[in-house]
Amino acid sequence: MGKPTGFKEFERETVPYRLPLVRIEDFDEIYTDPDEDHLKTQGARCMDCGVPFCQSTTGCPIDNLIPEWNDLVYNGRWRDALDRLHKTNNFPEFTGRACPAPCEGACVLGITNPAVTIKNIENAIVDRGWSEGWITAEPPEIRTGKSVAIIGSGPAGLAAADQLNSVGHNVTVYERADRIGGLLMYGIPNMKLDKGVVQRRLDKMADEGVQFKTGVNVGEDISAKELLDTNDAVLLATGATNPRNLNVPGRELNGVHFAMDFLTANTKSLLDSKHEDGNYINAEGKKVVVIGGGDTGTDCIGTSLRHGATSIVNLEIVPQPPESRAPNNPWPQWPRIFRVDYGHAEVAEKFGSDPREYCVETTEFIGDDSGNLKALKIVEVDWSKPQENGPPFTRVEGTEKVIEADLAFLAMGFLGPEQYVLGSLDDLDLDQRSNYQAEHGEFTTSIDGVFAAGDCRRGQSLVVWAINEGRGAARAIDKYLMGTSMLPAPGVSQGSALNPA
Ligand SMILES: Cc1cc2nc3c(=O)[nH]c(=O)nc-3n(C[C@H](O)[C@H](O)[C@H](O)COP(=O)(O)OP(=O)(O)OC[C@H]3O[C@@H](n4cnc5c(N)ncnc54)[C@H](O)[C@@H]3O)c2cc1C
Ligand code: SF4
Repeated sequence: MGKPTGFKEFERETVPYRLPLVRIEDFDEIYTDPDEDHLKTQGARCMDCGVPFCQSTTGCPIDNLIPEWNDLVYNGRWRDALDRLHKTNNFPEFTGRACPAPCEGACVLGITNPAVTIKNIENAIVDRGWSEGWITAEPPEIRTGKSVAIIGSGPAGLAAADQLNSVGHNVTVYERADRIGGLLMYGIPNMKLDKGVVQRRLDKMADEGVQFKTGVNVGEDISAKELLDTNDAVLLATGATNPRNLNVPGRELNGVHFAMDFLTANTKSLLDSKHEDGNYINAEGKKVVVIGGGDTGTDCIGTSLRHGATSIVNLEIVPQPPESRAPNNPWPQWPRIFRVDYGHAEVAEKFGSDPREYCVETTEFIGDDSGNLKALKIVEVDWSKPQENGPPFTRVEGTEKVIEADLAFLAMGFLGPEQYVLGSLDDLDLDQRSNYQAEHGEFTTSIDGVFAAGDCRRGQSLVVWAINEGRGAARAIDKYLMGTSMLPAPGVSQGSALNPA
């Protein structure tokens, strides 16, 4: 513990984002560079708790050694802090930018004061590691001769690949998209996670011997069974990519899109040609309605603003969360409170108010004679009046209204993995939510030699949980191949921490 009285002396101060009206002019990252003294002061607020809830599975799903690196940063020992960070996290620059930080929700200081700025400190450590040239390729010294095929290149597949390669297995990652990274590349937009930051880590992994194959759609271009026959093990890390639809009249109109079609095309066009190819859904000059909150909804808001949308409304069917913890949501649980994310703050600055409307159901999309979206019919709902054999809310009579819209994005969550990948593995068991059935900690499916990890196993979750699962699956696969494993087992909690499924 660097400074025993630090938590009494210093206020919490996060590293600021760039100003909203400046950052919406481009797709560059929203963050500013932190000042070293600022980080040192914030590190000094850590109390080095006897039971550090921040790094328990209630806090950090990958058991990050948080009090240790807070202290090291306070003492200016950045290189040591980086080594500690990499012990538990393969990709701190992804979580340091995109994680909602359940660790901060569980921080003991948070019981009485604002929590330690753990996420800022994590990000600063790894960014410094890259800029100082401390992070370089470290290929394994020996190869085991065993081979593993990983299907899907999101954070779960990548964490597993990194771990398995480090102990000498030959790893090939198959990805159907044209770029590696899963939702790190084609989900989370560039302003939240710069794609150069993703590519830098991928290049290091390639230099260490991981093979990446893009444009290979397993189940169509090659069967999963073929991969199993030609490898010693297969890991399914295909994500939960089945979007939830909104089956109301007018769904087929031009201008109604799944959020992922909007976000994926936007990033691809940005990376391919800085948007010059025009191969994306352009919100410039359009009235945009985003249906559904969460990270996906926020990213649609931020992207639409950067295109130049003329208005943005975000509809949420659930009630607005409270400003502070409800009695049934005590510390150290993830605080389910009203938050202003980057996209909400940007809309508030640009148009004068927060874009969110709560307790609202969309009942119809209305089009013009050419089949183009023109408006949405919406109605308020009352959650205090659940229906006996219907939805857990009732529509409030007389509250129907029509709001204008040229574009509507459906950001209503995901319904598990797509099943076609299984093909010849059709005897693989699914769970009740149509995810691949495998126990957390074991990660073995009903087929010998086939493992599953990440969103395709646990349902839609977070980058940090995908890393937890990838690391855990790597250990399980290593044990399966070698009889024993020296790879670490990350936390086994199934989700007492933040895990919005
Ligand atoms: C828009 C959006 C924003 C998000 N923002 C955040 C955030 O800010 N913070 C956070 O913590 N979490 C966020 N999440 C959630 C997080 O991105 C996911 O939980 C995480 O990426 C899951 O990792 P994964 O490796 O399991 O799967 P994914 O990242 O989904 O990767 C799966 C990959 O498998 C590939 N694949 C699927 N089928 C096949 C096949 N048959 N053959 C070959 N390849 C295949 C897919 O193309 C994909 O690239 C966000 C999610 C979305 C949708
Ligand atoms: S819970 Fe908070 S104060 Fe305690 S060790 Fe972790 S970061 Fe430091």
